[in-house]
Amino acid sequence: MAPGSKRATATASKKLETAPYIFYKDRLGTYKNYIYDEEPHATCTSKALARAGFISTGEDAGKCPFCLKELCFDANDDPWEEHKKRGAECAFVLLGKLDETTLTVADTIKLAQTAVIMAKYEEQVKIVNGLESRASSENLYDSILKALKQKPARTTTRRAK
Ligand SMILES: [Zn+2]
Repeated sequence: MAPGSKRATATASKKLETAPYIFYKDRLGTYKNYIYDEEPHATCTSKALARAGFISTGEDAGKCPFCLKELCFDANDDPWEEHKKRGAECAFVLLGKLDETTLTVADTIKLAQTAVIMAKYEEQVKIVNGLESRASSENLYDSILKALKQKPARTTTRRAK
């Protein structure tokens, strides 16, 4: 039987490019059969993770769409405390409003802008990484070509002598 969490991961990363996940409900929707939800004393549940700003990116991993911090969690972690500890510069952490009903229109706009900017940034990083790997494979191609061209050149030199 294939675990559902892997499929949820693919959906989450695909969705991140188009949806900013500014609301709890949308972040919670990325968690499918989350591993610690079944553990009776777990503090790190899908609800706690979504509330603390994280979307699902794998079995025990979560990522913040506002600062792009990706963490692996333990069942007894407090996602909000971990987010504050590791994402001190995060717009969501700085806002510090875990209760969505206290969000103002300005807060919501700021979070939406941050999420869109970070999603674009992540997209650009992917493009740059793609170019880098393409460039290195082109270099490999060039060196192979050079190596192939050198052989007949040497033969020609020998023949000329
Ligand atoms: Zn964050």
